Amino acid sequence: MFDLVIANGTVVTAETTGAADLGITGGRIAALGLGLQGAETIDARGLLVLPGAVDEHVHLQMPVGEFCSSDDFATGTVAAAHGGTTTILDFAEPGPQQPLVDALLARRAEAEGKVAVDYGLHMTLSRADDETLAQVPDCIAAGAASYKLYMAYDRLRLDDGGLLRALARLGECGGRALVHAENHHAIAYLVARALAEGHTGPQNHPTTRPAVMEAEAVHRLLALAHVAGTPVVVAHLSCALGLEEVRAARRRGQTVWVETCPQYLLLDEGAYRQPGFEAAKLVMAPPPRTAADRDALWAGLAAGEIDTVATDHCPFFFETQKVRGRDDFSRIPGGAPGIETRLALMYSHGVRTGRLSLRRWVDACCTEPARRFGLAPRKGTLATGADADVVLFDPEKRAVLSHRALHQNVDYTPYEGWEVRGYPVIVISRGEVIVRNGQFVGQPGRGRFVATAPL
Ligand code: MN
Repeated sequence: MFDLVIANGTVVTAETTGAADLGITGGRIAALGLGLQGAETIDARGLLVLPGAVDEHVHLQMPVGEFCSSDDFATGTVAAAHGGTTTILDFAEPGPQQPLVDALLARRAEAEGKVAVDYGLHMTLSRADDETLAQVPDCIAAGAASYKLYMAYDRLRLDDGGLLRALARLGECGGRALVHAENHHAIAYLVARALAEGHTGPQNHPTTRPAVMEAEAVHRLLALAHVAGTPVVVAHLSCALGLEEVRAARRRGQTVWVETCPQYLLLDEGAYRQPGFEAAKLVMAPPPRTAADRDALWAGLAAGEIDTVATDHCPFFFETQKVRGRDDFSRIPGGAPGIETRLALMYSHGVRTGRLSLRRWVDACCTEPARRFGLAPRKGTLATGADADVVLFDPEKRAVLSHRALHQNVDYTPYEGWEVRGYPVIVISRGEVIVRNGQFVGQPGRGRFVATAPL
């Protein structure tokens, strides 16, 4: 007799699809089979039963200039849960002199008691001196084996020498590298030139961060990773030219993984042509590209050349925060919401349109993110012994996305008015129902820290 049985559903994992019951005991998956008996049973007839989704890239209560991203660890993780995401990976950013482990513990203290789902933390390496890199093994031992490296942004970026030293050190220690690849100097030049010419509106955001300079950075990153002998994850790839660079690196034998996001699959540069200041809602880096880029990303995702779909969730209120850049687009806080809508959007626009198989959808949103960042086999799959993080997904349920109905703490969604067909109806975290029929029914702060394991 199991604590809980999810009966009569269609179980979908990255490997198989089929009718099966799921037996859950002690917060873990205890059995998959037919005719399982539980103290409690949820009838999943007509529903897809998936592993809880894993969002490997979110920024909750992240300080950016004078603002903080508007979802904190409480609101952001409740929104995640509503969307079927039961594990997130956020970021710890050390202060200029702060030891890495101190930064990790400080960030954990911000999350503890607030998180509604389980969470891990990437450690941001914004310096690559010997003293900092010497701390990597201790930081891995403390539970952060994944490191975020930036090639753009003044206070965060590493130069090529720093990037090479950091990659080499991570390679030695089994650290995982997630890299934001854009050409910092080209962007700085283009932004300054646009402003000098009086082009101050948000329409100038995409033209000052061109795809060719993202692809250049991907190329440089992968060349440096080749020299270091270190596998890397390219964060939020947005363009076909960048994907070409990944293919070239793989042809020479490198291990490269690629993340993209719904905004690069579903939006394009046309969205920046909205009148007035509306385009500020889409100020994020990199920007959504052309329709041809979008098609190339879908094809790459379907073929497994792109491994994961994360959100890069980093919301700012349009009316009070984005507006700060009304006279200068470079002062618009960068980022957009998405933590709640990923699974449903990828189902409606991927699976339903025939672009993605069910299994590829689950792999990209749930399984591969856990594997990629050292959370597997505990997270990301429905296997005996794994945490019982489960989504019951109704493939026929229709919803119209609106910021009023969503739970993200922000006053817009890029997908306002979009209709989706297919939505999570019950979300289970470690055996406990936390979302049922559109209500969060879990205990606030119930989420736990999960360590990322080294390669
Ligand atoms: Mn990000």
